[in-house]
Amino acid sequence: MIKFNKALKDIKVYEAGKPIELVVREYGIDPKDVVKLASNENPIGTSPMVAQAIRNHADKAHLYPDDSMFELKEALASKYDVLSDNIIIGAGSDQVLEFISRAVLDENSSVLMSAVTFAMYEIYTKQMGAKVLRTMSYEHKYEEFIEAYTMRKPKIVYICTPNNPTGDATKKAEVLKMIGQMKDAIVVVDGAYMEYASAKDSEYAITPNDLMEFSHVIYLGTFSKAYGLGGMRVGYGIAQKELIAQLYKMRPPFNISTLSLVAGIEACKDEDFVKESIALHTEQIKRYEAFADDNGFEYIESYTNFITYVFDDRIDATEISDALLKQGVIIRNLASYGMNAIRITIGTSKQNDIFFKHFKALL
Ligand SMILES: *Cc1c(COP(=O)(O)O)cnc(C)c1O
Repeated sequence: MIKFNKALKDIKVYEAGKPIELVVREYGIDPKDVVKLASNENPIGTSPMVAQAIRNHADKAHLYPDDSMFELKEALASKYDVLSDNIIIGAGSDQVLEFISRAVLDENSSVLMSAVTFAMYEIYTKQMGAKVLRTMSYEHKYEEFIEAYTMRKPKIVYICTPNNPTGDATKKAEVLKMIGQMKDAIVVVDGAYMEYASAKDSEYAITPNDLMEFSHVIYLGTFSKAYGLGGMRVGYGIAQKELIAQLYKMRPPFNISTLSLVAGIEACKDEDFVKESIALHTEQIKRYEAFADDNGFEYIESYTNFITYVFDDRIDATEISDALLKQGVIIRNLASYGMNAIRITIGTSKQNDIFFKHFKALL
């Protein structure tokens, strides 16, 4: 009998957004009628420049990528005004989360995060046999974090701003105040949706350089959301070079593919694509806010590319999610996070029309 690590007993497998193929298979819906608003992907797709660069490199698939990732690191260094030594690249920022966990956690450690936040924080923590500590609120509240930090001495503190799956964000001043009080932990500022928050309100905009004076802080960013490259798996961590050097010890060689590297480099050259994505988003999210107001339910003000609708007991999030799925509309049910709520990625105008049509009919 194989004895798996004790830690595995307590781990629930990450539940990814349902793929389009599954809806086609299970409900016999035409793929062109399926609307996927479940994984916070960019609804306008991939930058044409990036897609072309990937095609141009298709015949380089036999070569291992440049393991130094020189060009991508240079591009990020110039984008954020930091040095290459301050950067580590991951297969998604997810992989950087994994490096951080493995670098500092053991069975005796704990990790602090908000009540409702990115599900992978818990999984990476439990993989190391460490304990998950949560604050009372899904918002990142200073008093709650400092009290838990002081009492429990966690090795990692996650500040997800903007937060997934709730969509709220924490002001830069508040984040800096917290960070200054938690110097014995690695504080991870996860900015997966920062492009959206920065565009909406400068008080919420955080750049890696805002954090660089702290030796215990790492900023995480990704190409998966605003840059439209979820399928390429490219993310990064930015911190002082001593912290990055430690994380490098956890990194396998060639941890992102040749084509992913090309995609990341090219994406840094096409900031117009990000601007265009955010402009569409800014216009379309207003329709979701109005829809909630018109139909008498609450939403959390969003600083991300999705919106979270919170229901009272007149609407059941699981029922509504299942019913929408049967119509070919894939959204995220937040019941497993303990919330009677759904998370909807803001789509294109047409995708949103379809969502509103089916949702309205169900109400
Ligand atoms: C999407 C997401 C990530 C990471 O995505 P990758 O595709 O692995 O780069 C990290 N944190 C949050 C909060 C996210 O929503």
